[in-house]
Amino acid sequence: MPPMYRDLPAVESLVQLIEQMCNDLTLPRALLVSVARAEIAAARLRMTDGGFTSTHQDLARGALAQLRASITPSLQAVINATGVIIQTNLGRAPLSAAALQAMQSVNQGYSNLEYDLAQGERGSRAAHLHDLLCRLTGAEAALVVNNNAAAIYLALSALAVSREVIISRGQAVEIGGGFRIPDILRQSGATLVEVGTTNRTFAHDYAAAINDRTALLMSVHTSNFRLIGFVHETPLAELVALAREHHIITLDDLGSGTLLPTAPYGLAAEPTVQERIAAGADLVTFSGDKLLGGPQAGVIVGKSVLIDRLSKHPLARALRVDKTTLAGLEATFHAYLLGRATEDIPIWRMIAATTTELRDRAERLVGMIGDASVMVASCTSTIGGGALPGETLPSYALAITTQAPDAFIRYLRQATPPVIGRIAQGVVLLDMRTVLVEQESQLIDVLRVVLDRSS
Ligand SMILES: *Cc1c(COP(=O)(O)O)cnc(C)c1O
Repeated sequence: MPPMYRDLPAVESLVQLIEQMCNDLTLPRALLVSVARAEIAAARLRMTDGGFTSTHQDLARGALAQLRASITPSLQAVINATGVIIQTNLGRAPLSAAALQAMQSVNQGYSNLEYDLAQGERGSRAAHLHDLLCRLTGAEAALVVNNNAAAIYLALSALAVSREVIISRGQAVEIGGGFRIPDILRQSGATLVEVGTTNRTFAHDYAAAINDRTALLMSVHTSNFRLIGFVHETPLAELVALAREHHIITLDDLGSGTLLPTAPYGLAAEPTVQERIAAGADLVTFSGDKLLGGPQAGVIVGKSVLIDRLSKHPLARALRVDKTTLAGLEATFHAYLLGRATEDIPIWRMIAATTTELRDRAERLVGMIGDASVMVASCTSTIGGGALPGETLPSYALAITTQAPDAFIRYLRQATPPVIGRIAQGVVLLDMRTVLVEQESQLIDVLRVVLDRSS
């Protein structure tokens, strides 16, 4: 006889079954009732589809699995063994110990977020990072907002509403995650004027487009792609000269934004924020969590009169950063000021790691795992985060030879903590460059479990 609705348990008896099964945790009754109801409703549906064969025990187990899933954090720590240092999908920059400490310390209790301790009166949240940013970048003034997209949006909204913004056709780009420069420009109320061609744009192209509706010349870091061959981008200094001649503003979206030169690490020279300020850009915007190596934020540095206008715009309030971000950024900037960035800031430690160091780490782990299918192999890491596309750093990986690399990668991804690797030529690679030293023992534990499972 086919199962009938009356074969389903009553909510109350399913609740009791669940409670018996999860004697390790006490849960609010309302939560138990709601999962029991959901499980019964799902069973009812399967019944109408003719697919219902579950016992009451099965239903209770299903409800319990739902319960456990609902109290397990969705957002969790993972081990990045991809070799992509600023991996946007994996949360971009891991933070320095000092940044983490500062973030915890201002959140544990109260802070002087908007309180002037010297005067005993209301202070400004913008004051905390202002002088530090000016000292590090050489700019007159600075403002920090929620992220770089917000920084660009605020700058354009405050300075270019109902006016024209001239941008090279080769820089009207999509950064990723659907974020397109032309869209944000239009959204801010400015009118986009594209000049030049995709591959070549000269100062005279900008000059020909300037008129009395022009608010600013914008330059955008092309981020995640690179044009090679017959290419010309107008140097920032030429844009600055042109803008000054016409009393308009230059806005430089540097994207990643770095305070340290990248060339010493065998990478192409990524323009530094200091260089762009020195070249005369009126405003430079960049991210806090890309090559800066701090928490998510957008930094705007430049001329005081302009930063003032941005700070007073109503959007500044909507896009403002919280105390956690400010604390993490301040600690990160201190590392730069003290010349300790490549020691203290994880992404700079990763960039600066030598191949000898990486091979030693890989060899040590291979020795500890002691499984013939895990060996050391050379590989290449990348920067990611839209910085230095096409540039690579030589690195070393744990290379796992297995019949089913796709399944192996999936087991790694579903482990606790999840380990994210990649497959190259049928071999699973776990790049040591992006694995934090503190994560090595966890990585070994996960590898042992997955090797067991797939043998
Ligand atoms: C990453 C990037 C942005 C966006 O920055 P977020 O901090 O992610 O908002 C904008 N412009 C460029 C050129 C970028 O590389």
